[in-house]
Amino acid sequence: MPNVYERLGVRPIVNAKGPSTRLSGGMMHPEVAAAMAQATALCVDMAELQAAASAAIARATGAEAGYVTAGAAAGLLLATAACMTGLDPGRMNRLPDTTGMKNEVLVARSQRNFYDHAVRAAGARLVEIGLPDRVSGAGVRDAEPWEYADAINERTAAVLYVASPEARPDLTDVAAVAHAAGVPVIVDAAGQLPPAANLRRFVAEGADAVVFSGGKAIGGPQGSGILAGRRDLVMAAALQNLDLDIPFALWTPPPGLIDKDRLKGIPHHGIGRSSKVGKEQVVGLLAALERFAGEDDATRRAPWLARMRALADALKPLNNAAVELRDEGHPVPTVALRLAPAAGLGADALLLALQTGTPPIYADPSEARSRTVVFVPTCLQDDEVPVIARRVRDVVTAAG
Ligand SMILES: *Cc1c(COP(=O)(O)O)cnc(C)c1O
Repeated sequence: MPNVYERLGVRPIVNAKGPSTRLSGGMMHPEVAAAMAQATALCVDMAELQAAASAAIARATGAEAGYVTAGAAAGLLLATAACMTGLDPGRMNRLPDTTGMKNEVLVARSQRNFYDHAVRAAGARLVEIGLPDRVSGAGVRDAEPWEYADAINERTAAVLYVASPEARPDLTDVAAVAHAAGVPVIVDAAGQLPPAANLRRFVAEGADAVVFSGGKAIGGPQGSGILAGRRDLVMAAALQNLDLDIPFALWTPPPGLIDKDRLKGIPHHGIGRSSKVGKEQVVGLLAALERFAGEDDATRRAPWLARMRALADALKPLNNAAVELRDEGHPVPTVALRLAPAAGLGADALLLALQTGTPPIYADPSEARSRTVVFVPTCLQDDEVPVIARRVRDVVTAAG
């Protein structure tokens, strides 16, 4: 019987780029897929399911509470909304109109990125801090903690911090300044796993809310994510995402997620209602999170390294190209293929030849400007390694 993609006339790809949204995320462990299939067969109360998710996410992250979102970007929208509305249902109903609310979100200029649109989508205005001199190559400095302190005023709703090994200043210093002024810190850690220790790290360093992608390294559904953080912020996020079409008297939300006694009424469908999460996403994300948190980084990495070793061995020797296995110091080992100027084709030409062939092969283009194509193991099957090696060899040999 043809598989679902064949029936649709859609060609499966060889994904040597790693989990990206445009390439359909990652691959799910059969255990996770089975949990999702089971979830489809019964109905539950979504608030009760999210309350169970909250407890599981709290255990995995060290946060007070948690919530399964429709991706990390949806988590940013919900966290921002929560910081602006607090537990006021009237404010929730007004978003994205922020009249009368704190609506400024501070962010280091060097941390601006395409995903911060999610923060603006909630109705907030981004206020940029600092001059990223080091990024231009002109100097060594970036935004500094005192500049955050200077920018905080009575309209400041939150600080947005985009975590990465290169992020400056340190989160602990930013959190100290923000907390001294009573301002919460939202951390975008969407792609910061592995290492698994990062599940707890950002909360420990002072994040009031942190978001992770479920569809990247965790191995959950492509359209899922995690929001972890302060109980009141998670409650405000839940209220702006859940469907609450019920009379107040009949509303019995689980107190572990929503404390009804703290509310004067039930908000309308909120700003987050359009990033709805299904029961399958919640169950799949939780199954994936349990697997991810229960496996140590070395065990997870071993098959990736074996795959990259096999690829490097199968590519070498290759005329007009240097093949490098990036192992030591790389949480995810990769293979970098650097084309010599004499190769007769650049990295873009190689990437294009790979992705327009059969099967389409996608690799990482982020170093194309230095004539380098990078191959990532996390979304590959072992039997795809020789397919990649053969095609790369054919294309490079034909050009040389
Ligand atoms: C991938 C990513 C996101 C978006 O995550 P989704 O789960 O796809 O919504 C947000 N921020 C950063 C930094 C990312 O890398």
